[in-house]
Formats: sequence, structure tokens, C-alpha cells
Amino acid sequence: MYPTSFDYYRPQSVAEAIQLLRQHPGSKALAGGHSLLPQMKLRTSSPTALVDLGRIQGLSGISDSGGRLSIGAMATHTAIADSDLVKSACPILAEAAAQIGDVQVRNRGTIGGSLAHADPASDYPTVIVALGATLTATGPAGDRDLPAESFFTDLFTTALNPDELLTWVRVPKTGMPGMGGAYMKHKHPASGYAVVGVAALVGLEGGKCSRVSLVVGGTTANPIRAKAAEQMLTGQAPTAENVAAASAKVADAIGEPMGDLYASGEYRRHLATVLARRALMQAAQRAM
Ligand SMILES: Cc1cc2nc3c(=O)[nH]c(=O)nc-3n(C[C@H](O)[C@H](O)[C@H](O)COP(=O)(O)OP(=O)(O)OC[C@H]3O[C@@H](n4cnc5c(N)ncnc54)[C@H](O)[C@@H]3O)c2cc1C
Repeated sequence: MYPTSFDYYRPQSVAEAIQLLRQHPGSKALAGGHSLLPQMKLRTSSPTALVDLGRIQGLSGISDSGGRLSIGAMATHTAIADSDLVKSACPILAEAAAQIGDVQVRNRGTIGGSLAHADPASDYPTVIVALGATLTATGPAGDRDLPAESFFTDLFTTALNPDELLTWVRVPKTGMPGMGGAYMKHKHPASGYAVVGVAALVGLEGGKCSRVSLVVGGTTANPIRAKAAEQMLTGQAPTAENVAAASAKVADAIGEPMGDLYASGEYRRHLATVLARRALMQAAQRAM
């Protein structure tokens, strides 16, 4: 199907983009176009105008800002997966980026587009919540920083206002000794999207887990933190038995899981428990 007709703008700065979004009610930002353009062709989204972010300088950088990395919203999945800085300072993010879709999707798709789209089957939201990242929204009144956990508000819905852009993603560094992370997913065989994805971070001190972060995506509208599992493993040695017992708690955290023709809710719940066990074990091994 063809999209409905729309205007097209190519701003040179974030300020100009925000002004265009304000001036044109019903307009949308265009990043890699890998989610928005299919939606427009299916007419599940019919923006009045597209504000193309592709020519804005400085929005795709990845830099070291002390204790965290600053990643521009227009950084592509490939740039993140291939970045030596991300691979050493925040390896779980590079690991997730490398698992997104296929080469074409990774070369065009952006972290900002993925997070703003808030697809429950996407990979970054799960990892970003596990990391406790901070997302910067820039609008007419300036910047506001949002914790990742409160950024995703519902299915395909975020805390961004229509005239705001996601501009920066700040992730804490986790690539230090004694800290390990792992992102694992069950891929949809056709698209590569996460039917279920699990992000685990484990900090070890004296052979025991001093920090555990466990987040599940793909089973509910937004990623959920498996708090009971995190608490159960904290202070314990990451043995196979302890990790299995903690992972069993993931099923309760999920509540009512989503289901579709490919994977029922019950199957998703089971996958989440299995992937949580594997991701926690992998993260703990990487922390040793
Ligand atoms: C075949 C296929 C397979 C895929 N497989 C996976 C997968 O395995 N895992 C995965 O996570 N994703 C997958 N994707 C999705 C892909 O990662 C997209 O690139 C991503 O979801 C959207 O990013 P984008 O840059 O293309 O955004 P766009 O499609 O340009 O935009 C998406 C939405 O975000 C808004 N937006 C974009 N940038 C901003 C911004 N800076 N501020 C505010 N709003 C913004 C747009 O207005 C639009 O509503 C797949 C896509 C395809 C086509």
C-alpha cells in the first residue's frame, strides 16, 4: 500500500526540528525509517509531515563522559555494535545491538528511533532499563532527563511529548572487573525481533552477588524488572542452584504475558524463565 501524502522537512539542527514538529501538528520525526516507513505503508501511521533528523550534525556520536557513555539518538545499531568504546565500557549494549534484525536494519536503524518507537519486541529497551540509563528529551523548553524505567509508559508509547525529540542516551559503564552482563533473546524466525529478551547484570564481591539487575522484554507492553529474582540472588553465590531458584521467580513478575500466533503467553513465560537462568549464569561467569 502507498502511504497517505505528507510534507517532508530536512532540518539542520535540533532546535529547527523541534520548531517544525511544533509548527506541524501530526508530524513525526524520521530517523532510520525502519519502523515508521512500514507503518506508513500499512497506514497504521499517517503523519502529516516527516521531520528527517538525518542531516542534523552531532546527534550520532558516542563518547566517554566519565562514569557513563553518551550515545546520540541517531547512532545506528551497527555503530553501537562495532564501537570499541561500547564494547569495552558497556559490553551488554554492544551485544544487544549486534543481535538486532539483519545487516540492513542495523545499518539504518537508530537507538533513538528504537527507544522512541517502544516496540515490546525490540531489544534496546530491555537492556536500557537493566542498565538504569538516562534518556534526554529535548523540547521547546529545553532538556529534561528521564530514567529509562519511566520512559516507557505503554505499548508503543513513551513519556516523550509530540514536540520533543529523544536526543541522548546516557548509559553507566559496566565493563569493569567484577561486573558481568549478558543479553539473550529468542528471535522470531522471520524478523529477528525478540519474542522474549532478557538482560542480566551481575556484580561479584568475594564470590557473592553484590549487585543483580534482571529485566525481561517481549512478554508485556514494556520491559519489566524481575525484582524478586534480583533480591533472591543478591548476597548469594551464583551457583547453578541459586540462579535457577532466582530465575523461577521471573514467572511471577510477568503477570499476564502477551501471546500471538507464534508464541502463546504461557510459552513466553517459560522462555523468560529459561533465558533468565542462562543470562544470569553467563553474566556471573563474565564477572569472574
Ligand atoms: C525486518 C526488520 C527486522 C527488525 N528486527 C529488529 C530486532 O530484531 N530488534 C529490534 O530491536 N528492532 C528490530 N527492528 C526495528 C529496527 O531496529 C528499527 O530501526 C527501530 O525500531 C526504529 O528505529 P529507526 O531509526 O528506524 O526509527 P524510525 O522508523 O525512523 O522511527 C520510529 C519511531 O520513532 C520516532 N523517532 C525516531 N527518532 C526519534 C527521536 N530521536 N526522537 C523522538 N522520536 C523519534 C519516529 O517518529 C517514529 O515514530 C527490525 C525492523 C525491521 C524492518
